[in-house]
Amino acid sequence: MEGNRRWVSGDLHHPDRDPNRRQLVAQEQEPFGAILSCIDSRVPPELLFDTGLGNLYVMRTGGATVDPVVTGSVEYGPMTSGTPLVVVLGHQRCGAVKAAYESLREGKPLPGNLQAIAKALQPAYAQAHRGGGADPVDTMARAQVTLTATDLRANKDLAPLVKKGTLAVVGAYYSLDTGKVEVLTGAPA
Ligand SMILES: [Zn+2]
Repeated sequence: MEGNRRWVSGDLHHPDRDPNRRQLVAQEQEPFGAILSCIDSRVPPELLFDTGLGNLYVMRTGGATVDPVVTGSVEYGPMTSGTPLVVVLGHQRCGAVKAAYESLREGKPLPGNLQAIAKALQPAYAQAHRGGGADPVDTMARAQVTLTATDLRANKDLAPLVKKGTLAVVGAYYSLDTGKVEVLTGAPA
């Protein structure tokens, strides 16, 4: 979050991005977080948290959706080397969420494998559809974050780590307009 404040203000440190750092982490890595975010070209976690080499595991899928391969990738750090933080990061004006919202509302499947993304977003759509609000697509993007973070926190391999207090699973939302990351759920005490 300190890195994100630098991103918002423009006072960037660009840490851990030189040949010394490359050599330091060449043999082993110890990232402090695992971020699951969207493929959106405007939401690169390393930039918007002002991090560098070896700081983050990053998973990016359309709409920050998960399947078993993605979930396994998120679990890798916490389960094998004690990575203490998982962040599920949704964002403003998510094209994947918007397309899925329209597809599900109109009952028209998306073409090809895009339909797998719409299907994965179905629970968030259902929640947004019930909750409504002035901007249901934005409600759906936020619902996707909180539902996914809740699922990860409760899954059988991560739940014991959360219970022990060695892992936090945070849901967050990124504003394209301001560059600010807002924590929605799961902030550690
Ligand atoms: Zn997106």
